[in-house]
Amino acid sequence: MKAPPALATDPEPVISLHDAPALAALAREHRTDPQHLAKLTRRVLQHGDDFCAALTSLKTPLPAPLVARLTPGALILVKRRDSARDGATKLLFQTRAGERIESVLLRARSGRTTLCLSIQSGCAFGCSFCASGASGLRARLTLDEVLAQVIHGRQIAASEGLNLRNLVFMGMGEPLAEEALLHDCLERLTTATLFGFSPRRVCVSTVGLPEEMVRLAQRFPSVRQALSLHSAVANERAALIPVAREHSLDDLRRAALEVTRLAGGRILIEYLLLAGRTDRPEDERALYAWLDGLSAHLNLIPYNPIWRIADHTPTPHSAALAFARRCRARGIPTTLRRSLGTDISAACGALTP
Ligand code: SF4
Repeated sequence: MKAPPALATDPEPVISLHDAPALAALAREHRTDPQHLAKLTRRVLQHGDDFCAALTSLKTPLPAPLVARLTPGALILVKRRDSARDGATKLLFQTRAGERIESVLLRARSGRTTLCLSIQSGCAFGCSFCASGASGLRARLTLDEVLAQVIHGRQIAASEGLNLRNLVFMGMGEPLAEEALLHDCLERLTTATLFGFSPRRVCVSTVGLPEEMVRLAQRFPSVRQALSLHSAVANERAALIPVAREHSLDDLRRAALEVTRLAGGRILIEYLLLAGRTDRPEDERALYAWLDGLSAHLNLIPYNPIWRIADHTPTPHSAALAFARRCRARGIPTTLRRSLGTDISAACGALTP
């Protein structure tokens, strides 16, 4: 009797360059000095070198079967759009499952280079001013997919002689709704032997999930938090941010106080200026009262009209400047954000899957 044909076995799983325990096991399996593998990891994750170029430039080549197990990243860069006006570049990626996500590379005149990351494709929260929310949640992302945005961002920055040192989780998706994934990302991003970002240069933006904010500050006290307050009037805030119905402004303030206590520093408060909705005298009074006693930096954001969302009007620039002046006069550290990437739909709230 003939022997049955051998069963096909699953291919061995690929290993990411930021998975330290799996890399250590892989080095053992192939009797390779883990330091050689660490050199490759450092060059790709920290210096922004291209995977193949980094591989061929190693003085001691890695065994081919080991290399075959490595994956340089989980995303395909489908398209990039460079702003004609400022230093913003929008990066459109595709996941292996065919979902689209966007990141934005921001080059400030000061030389500071920042990557704005997405943690989901689309978003379930449906804030009324945000294009990501208008499309609903399209897909959740894996750890590899979130971190692949950083690998690409660092590579593009390095190819221009820039050092990507700052990250903001302000792209598609509410980061605190993906708490476990966010914490895993932060762990790897701030590990010195992996991506090596300083936690102080990483900022997580949230529309305000109080318990998750406190847990984030407990585990990563140096990671900065930005709270999208946008209104300190409960009804108005709930109209702008549906999830605000579940968390009172008092709960949010208590969480913000706890975050500043744990961080030993200020929390960033984002405030969208919308004509007749968040810039009236009563809005200003409510904002002052909410900020009273809180160690905060107020960032006023001019609204970017988005074609799909028609019922908001930006506060005129002169009125925004006056709003900022009055806040400063009350002793609140305040900036009026200059949005980059408005000509390529890459500014705040404009990312779509
Ligand atoms: S602002 Fe943030 S939480 Fe709200 S819909 Fe947009 S991505 Fe989601």
